[in-house]
Amino acid sequence: RLSKLPHHKTLDEYDFAFQPDLDPRKVRDLATLAFVQAKANLALLGPPGVGKTHIAVSLAVAACRAGFTVYFTTLDDMVRQLSAADAIGRLTRKLHTYLRPSVLVIDEVGYQPLERAEANLVFQVISKRYEKGSTLLTSNKSFGEWGQVFGDEVLATAILDRLLHHCDVIAINGPSYRLKNRLTAIDGN
Ligand code: ADP
Ligand code: MG
Repeated sequence: RLSKLPHHKTLDEYDFAFQPDLDPRKVRDLATLAFVQAKANLALLGPPGVGKTHIAVSLAVAACRAGFTVYFTTLDDMVRQLSAADAIGRLTRKLHTYLRPSVLVIDEVGYQPLERAEANLVFQVISKRYEKGSTLLTSNKSFGEWGQVFGDEVLATAILDRLLHHCDVIAINGPSYRLKNRLTAIDGN
């Protein structure tokens, strides 16, 4: 099930030459899905446009093709869904949406700071998935900034503790592919 994926891009469509600091072997290793089998996590960090979502989706597509259940969400959408469910007494049921899949992609951690109650919902998802399923997340913030994202250092540390115990971290610090296309368009090339 390719649930809610924004597109079905693959690693073959990712131009590693555009991102020379990113080790292609490291990414292709992940595509063997050994980390999914091991119920480990993956964090893709970096500024906008470097391909965090592209790589996360391509791994999710690969996992789906290999028979794993997959669910894609942005952090903001997940928090909205869980908060709304909580307000009508259906939190437990809604949590299953995010706990059931073998692979959960949480895209765009850090774009919006969260309220404490919202951050607590994220903690519930991460802690309940710990060693039970793979969580892939993307963030434009370094882990040191997560205290600000989650509005609470203690809660952020608790989330990172579960998340990072079994986790590959890929930091992509390069140019934006979106900006490349834009500059090319302006140049008329
Ligand atoms: P991020 O999530 O890091 O902001 P995206 O994954 O959304 O970036 O990438 C922005 C757009 O550029 C997408 O259409 C993506 O497919 C494309 N893209 C990014 N990096 C590359 C790359 N190295 N090769 C090919 N396409 C890329
Ligand atoms: Mg993205």
